[in-house]
Amino acid sequence: MKSRGCFTGSLSSQQLIELDACTQCGECLTFCPIQDVNSKPSISPPEKIRVFREFIKATEGLKARLFGPRDIDRKLLEEFTKAVFECTTCGACGQHCTVGIFSQRLWPQLRKEMVRRGIGPIGGQAKMPEVIRNTGNPYNLPAKDRFDPWFPAAVEVAETADTAYYAGCTGAYSAQPMVKGDVLVLKAAGEPFTMLPPEDEVCCGFPLFVSGQHDMLEDLIKRLVEAYRAKGVKMLLCSCPCCVNIMSRDWPIFYGQKLPFKIRHMTQFAAEALRSGKLKIRRELPERLIYHDPCYLSRGVGITEEPRIILRSIPGVQLIEFDRYGVNSRCCGAGGAARKVYPENANAIGRSTIDEAVKKKADRLIFSCPACYAQVNEGMLNHDRQIRIADIMELLSSLIEQDENSAS
Ligand code: SF4
Ligand code: SF4
Repeated sequence: MKSRGCFTGSLSSQQLIELDACTQCGECLTFCPIQDVNSKPSISPPEKIRVFREFIKATEGLKARLFGPRDIDRKLLEEFTKAVFECTTCGACGQHCTVGIFSQRLWPQLRKEMVRRGIGPIGGQAKMPEVIRNTGNPYNLPAKDRFDPWFPAAVEVAETADTAYYAGCTGAYSAQPMVKGDVLVLKAAGEPFTMLPPEDEVCCGFPLFVSGQHDMLEDLIKRLVEAYRAKGVKMLLCSCPCCVNIMSRDWPIFYGQKLPFKIRHMTQFAAEALRSGKLKIRRELPERLIYHDPCYLSRGVGITEEPRIILRSIPGVQLIEFDRYGVNSRCCGAGGAARKVYPENANAIGRSTIDEAVKKKADRLIFSCPACYAQVNEGMLNHDRQIRIADIMELLSSLIEQDENSAS
């Protein structure tokens, strides 16, 4: 077993190779949203890698092995921890990395190492495990209220079904037009679906994973997987890219085997339902729309085309693009559980999305992620530029459901 002194205990062989491979070329710097709003050198990808390599050298390098490991200055460790937790984990650096570093997983693993040493996480993130244990969500809100304020009375939930819908904590508590839109789309497509009771639909584990606090993850994930398995579920649908990301990439690792069901984002379901004719758009929308790709959906799991298929299917819509879109999209500012800890960064990044959408004369800014939705909404407070925003399922449900709701 590796000692607490060594820095490589949390990292996979692939990640060790990645750390070694960084050439310090700086190519990634242009794409880092944090560098755009706050150019602290400590947060830059090559600097984080350089410093971490120094930690490894001091504790596991040749000299350390011959003469014993060196102590790392506590202040240096704290500065590094702040830098690695200030990153939004958007993965843009990895997308443009000349040696192919998968940064959406490297940074969270470095965070995990700092948590293991008792130096991370930062601020309110430290309370998340206890809050999730008590309430099932990271927002410390009552589990019984998870579905209450938004779930439409006209939508039926089956006791068991091949398809299950997972609302997710951010959608259920902070982006209710989105989750309401999801279930209205399922109803309109005639898709029978089941859900867990509100007390059992606990957090998917993403905030704990991304903040390096992995202790509860296995229990949380096994509990959810077993609950859906008991209902005979074959496909689990969600709207939150972070849920989809951790479920498809990391749940099988924590579960210890292949999941007994497929994971799908709601845009994948809706694009297919439009193609097969299960969903029919009944209204025109003569608007110029701009779509923001969420980092954990686009770079994270490669879903970029389905949201565009949906938007292009709406008669009258003119779809325009951000300068950076698809897998090259720019973070909304909310990623990496850093939104509440570094709100100035998050708001400044969110506002640049608003500004670009306004500059491009979009009538509406469309999201497919509850965190992007909530962040950009917040960024609009006291901002001189304003734009209408909507979640893609909120919008779609308003065009297929005549009487249920409106996306305006
Ligand atoms: S993940 Fe995003 S915010 Fe973090 S260093 Fe890379 S580009 Fe910057
Ligand atoms: S692009 Fe890749 S190799 Fe170059 S500095 Fe950034 S992380 Fe290192």
